[in-house]
This record gives sequence, structure tokens and C-alpha cells, in this order.
Amino acid sequence: MKASESESTDSGSAARHAMVQQQLRARGIRDERVLAAMAQVPREEFVSEECRSAAYQDSSLPIDCGQTISQPFTVAFMCQLASIGEGDRVLEIGTGSGYAAAVLSHLGHSVDTVERYPALAQQATERLSRLGYSNVRVHTADGTEGLRRYAPFDAILVAAGARTLPQPLVDQLTGGGRIVIPLGPKHGQIMARFTYQDGQLTKDSFGAFAFVPLIGQHGWQE
Ligand code: SAH
Repeated sequence: MKASESESTDSGSAARHAMVQQQLRARGIRDERVLAAMAQVPREEFVSEECRSAAYQDSSLPIDCGQTISQPFTVAFMCQLASIGEGDRVLEIGTGSGYAAAVLSHLGHSVDTVERYPALAQQATERLSRLGYSNVRVHTADGTEGLRRYAPFDAILVAAGARTLPQPLVDQLTGGGRIVIPLGPKHGQIMARFTYQDGQLTKDSFGAFAFVPLIGQHGWQE
């Protein structure tokens, strides 16, 4: 949100629009707000110098601390499942590069994003601030505990593979709130969406994905 206008005219623009058509629209991403957000965020700014030319590739890419920036399709798919409205308060667990947080910032009112590696959180904070994403706050913490101080949230997206749904996240959801989380064994997960309505949690399952593990008190052991 409120990122510089040059985003849409920079050199990454053509590659970004091709990405939206070929990797997202053609594969069933239909939410126009999600597609517009993906067309605006300069992914090349969220990867290392060496990975810049691969920024719009149809894949995840390595970032520091042995982690990854998610594949564009995965980010768009999770955002679409979360049905984020303009007034929504969003929590992301697993900031990584900050890319998905930037996409989310175009969709909701505010984004709190939590990263367990201080170095990644620091880099993401600097990057998001330099690019003008003023409605994103980056926190260094164990995101499996949620972010009690700023709860409740309308949408929670977990960008790392979880064993089970961390209970603190459920406790920090508004009525009607959604949690999008990849669940399963360490090396391959099924995307799940939980909706909290009238005191009841409903689960829907979607396709197979491969995420780095969610490590923490309510996740995997280190
Ligand atoms: N959304 C990121 C990709 C995240 S990769 C992007 O757009 O670049 C998953 C991230 O989750 C990694 O950076 C990893 O360090 C982080 N992570 C794993 N377990 C975590 C936890 N318990 N709390 C916070 N972050 C966690």
C-alpha cells in the first residue's frame, strides 16, 4: 500500500505482468484485487542481487538463513483463500523476505508479520520501509504464539509448514476470521483454510505444497 508509483513503470513491470497472466490467471487465480496486488509489488526488490534476474520465475528462491521466498502462485493462492477485505487486520507468520507482507499490505488495512530470525526481520523492515509499505509492522518472535498484543486478526496466513494448527492463532481470530496454513509432514503439506464462525471452526483443504518448516512452541522442534 502506498508504495511508490514507479512500481508500475519500472523494468520489472513487463515481467510482472507476464507472471500475472501466465502463472496466476492461467492457473485459476480469479480474485482481481489479488491479481492487482501481485502486479504491483516489485519482487526483484525482495531477492538477493544474484537472484534478481530470476525474480519472476515460477519458483521459490533462496533467501538468507536457509529460508525461501515463496513461489508467486503460492502467495497469490494463499491471499485468495484468505478473502482479505480492505478493512481487514492481517497477521502473517513467516516474514522471510517481506514479499508476501507487501502483497498483503495492498489487500488489507494493516499487516503484522512475524519472523523468528532477527536478521531476516531486520532486512524485511528496511526493505518494506524503503519501498513505502507504511501499513506493515515486522516483529521478531515465535509466530506459533500469534501476536497477542495486536490481536484479534481477521485473517492469519502461515507461510511455513505446520504439524498442527497452533491454538494461539485460533484464539486470536475475529468472528468470521480465516486462517490459511499448510499442514502436514515436514517435507510436504496440504493447504488448509480454517474459518471461525459462531464459535465453530470449519476446515477446508486445498492442494499440495512444499514449505520450509514452522519451528516453535506450537510447531516443529528445531
Ligand atoms: N512469506 C515469505 C516466505 C516465508 S518462508 C516471503 O514472502 O518471503 C517461511 C519463513 O517462516 C522463514 O523465514 C522462517 O524463518 C519463518 N518461520 C518459521 N517458523 C517460524 C515461527 N515459529 N515464527 C516466525 N517465523 C517462522
